[in-house]
Amino acid sequence: MTLSDAALPHAEIREEVKKLCARFPGEYWRKLDTARAYPSEFVAALTEAGYLSVLIPEEYGGAGLGLGAASAILETIHAEGANGAACHAQMYTMGTVLRHGTEAQKRRYLPEIAAGRLRLQAFGVTEPTSGTDTGALRTTARREGDRYIVNGQKVWTSRAEHSDLMLLLARTQKREEGRKKTDGLSVFLVDMREVLGRGLTIRPIRTMMNHNSCEVFFDNMEIPADSLIGVEGKGFRYILDGMNAERLLIASESIGDAKWFTARSVAYANERRVFDRPIGQNQGVQFPIARAYAQWRAAELMVHRGCEKFEAGLPCGEEANMAKLLAADAAWAAAETCVQTHGGFGFAEEYDIERKFRETRLYQVAPISTNLILSYIAEHVLGLPRSY
Ligand SMILES: Cc1cc2nc3c(=O)[nH]c(=O)nc-3n(C[C@H](O)[C@H](O)[C@H](O)COP(=O)(O)OP(=O)(O)OC[C@H]3O[C@@H](n4cnc5c(N)ncnc54)[C@H](O)[C@@H]3O)c2cc1C
Repeated sequence: MTLSDAALPHAEIREEVKKLCARFPGEYWRKLDTARAYPSEFVAALTEAGYLSVLIPEEYGGAGLGLGAASAILETIHAEGANGAACHAQMYTMGTVLRHGTEAQKRRYLPEIAAGRLRLQAFGVTEPTSGTDTGALRTTARREGDRYIVNGQKVWTSRAEHSDLMLLLARTQKREEGRKKTDGLSVFLVDMREVLGRGLTIRPIRTMMNHNSCEVFFDNMEIPADSLIGVEGKGFRYILDGMNAERLLIASESIGDAKWFTARSVAYANERRVFDRPIGQNQGVQFPIARAYAQWRAAELMVHRGCEKFEAGLPCGEEANMAKLLAADAAWAAAETCVQTHGGFGFAEEYDIERKFRETRLYQVAPISTNLILSYIAEHVLGLPRSY
């Protein structure tokens, strides 16, 4: 079933990504899922085709396209049954370097990232004891001459084993010395190849889906002082700057998931006959599919609106957050409906539904939980009192 792709922006990109994904069918993802292995071949194909560097400006070797193009790529990957989580951070994490790095840092890293010779897949913010409360993070970076000494721990650092670089948020000033608890946090671009086994330890965490997430430990890890991005102590601001792009791109993946689930539900509801008629003839089967469809079509509009505003350089926190909330909810509704429509077969691995069901659940928790988006809307959009 085609869900009006031709009418969507970036139709050509969508068509090409679809062709690329056809080389990586369900069987490929199923095997990786069982082994909890990284989709190296898929990531290499995306890199080679230039899709992971679309947001890098042309002067640094990328395609210089807008967020809408990146959104179309990730949505299509997910709509085709694949999973962009293995590499989506390569698209947007570099934005912090682009916006806040020195010209020398940009010249050094961005062309290599664009060419796929350097992987910037890891983003270390969350810690075991701070979680959503980023200002409470405890990892420290202490300046000593021409180096910083890093101590602490991150958790859920996805793809750390499959990345050369990590964007790291650490405390460079004691929490009590700042006016706000988010003061005194700094961003570093860590070359993990230089410190792995020398102060840096990475341990994979096995999760309910194949996500290559890790615990990362820093034990007197020494990094050059020029790993610092921007001004010391201003890191929280820099991370916030990148969040709208991240929210919109993750929302795009959820829209892709929702499309995949809906297409599967419709096909099966038309084909499966029980009581001598297609199950889709029953309104009890049709209505949840129709409702989920309406839900993701509405969320899709919010994603497009957010991307338009982002590309126009307009404030888009409201749209980016709502897009993430609505798309994650819509994908989950479509996933739940898809399992129900398939009855027992929804649980069989070979149908890929249970795998996608597990994968799509993540986006109600990460990279930001649904509750925290509601808090954002309540406080920053509606002017209600801060709740935490
Ligand atoms: C598979 C996976 C991959 C991830 N990848 C990365 C990564 O690459 N890099 C990275 O830095 N992080 C990553 N994360 C971490 C993710 O961003 C966090 O899990 C998420 O931000 C929530 O933090 P937490 O798990 O510590 O939950 P907590 O902060 O402990 O919150 C637990 C629950 O309480 C709710 N809650 C907390 N405070 C409030 C409040 N004030 N009001 C209402 N509800 C509240 C939350 O919504 C949540 O549902 C990943 C997580 C997972 C599971």
